[in-house]
Amino acid sequence: MFESLSDRLGKIFDGLRGRGALSASDVDAAMREIRRALIEADVSLEVVRAFVDQVRDRAVGAEVTRSVTPGQQVIKIVHDELVAVLGESTVAIDLNAKAPVTLLMVGLQGSGKTTTTAKIAKRLKDKQKKKVLLASLDTRRPAAMEQLRVLGEQVGVDTLPIVTSETPVEIARRAEREGRLGGYDVLILDTAGRTHVDEELMVETVSIKDIANPHEILLVVDALTGQDAINVARSFDGRLDITGIVLTRVDGDGRGGAALSMRAATGKPIKLIGVGEKMDALEDFHPSRIADRILG
Ligand code: GDP
Repeated sequence: MFESLSDRLGKIFDGLRGRGALSASDVDAAMREIRRALIEADVSLEVVRAFVDQVRDRAVGAEVTRSVTPGQQVIKIVHDELVAVLGESTVAIDLNAKAPVTLLMVGLQGSGKTTTTAKIAKRLKDKQKKKVLLASLDTRRPAAMEQLRVLGEQVGVDTLPIVTSETPVEIARRAEREGRLGGYDVLILDTAGRTHVDEELMVETVSIKDIANPHEILLVVDALTGQDAINVARSFDGRLDITGIVLTRVDGDGRGGAALSMRAATGKPIKLIGVGEKMDALEDFHPSRIADRILG
């Protein structure tokens, strides 16, 4: 049966009640459990290592106060450190720029990029009363352009009319002009994805970035792709200097480990999480909630 990290830590420390301070050997047993739990939660090994060292430093010699058990004390330290790694607070999409504020959506094919683009548009329209224009730059996959058009219609947001002969850069230019002349507050550009990171895609996306001058570059990553997601995040961030991450399929990521790896690997904030296929299944990222989930 599945036993949560909190339960496991509680057990290890049950025998240690009444100690004045935690010793290195007390803490080492707990560290083994923490390491195992994080690896089970699909956190990358290097992140696990760095994290465990940090927790150990804080836990060894920590005074055990009368009001809590040593187990609770270590659980609190782990929780605090998880929150520190995940980012202390919720970071919203920044719309503080001249209209139309351009958001560039990047990521691999199948990561949930187009779905997330429409979800963000819906949220900005419904909650912030923004006038949003969507444009697909995926010239290689007409189906992707059509998908964005259909989703835009579904959420009641305009999409740039499809012109099949244009290059992605030409579409980006037309979208900017339409966004400006049409009085839109926000322009969201959905770029082409690939099944894996490739040079041609990066070069194309960099040229779109240069033309579109986006205020935010949001990388969409599938939480279920585990270790791969970290390499993807590093590659995109290295070339594009992303401003934030949207983690999708968090509804299927039981332990929330991908979030920890992602933030640690790029240093960029996770701004939103996708929690389902429906258009309103998009939530703010709350570090403390994910930390609770990892602890179980
Ligand atoms: P793209 O190729 O990156 O544009 O990916 P899509 O937006 O077409 O999404 C691929 C599939 O993932 C679709 O079936 C979406 O409904 C699904 N999807 C996207 N985000 C989520 C999410 O947060 N949770 C779940 N369960 N499914 C998602």
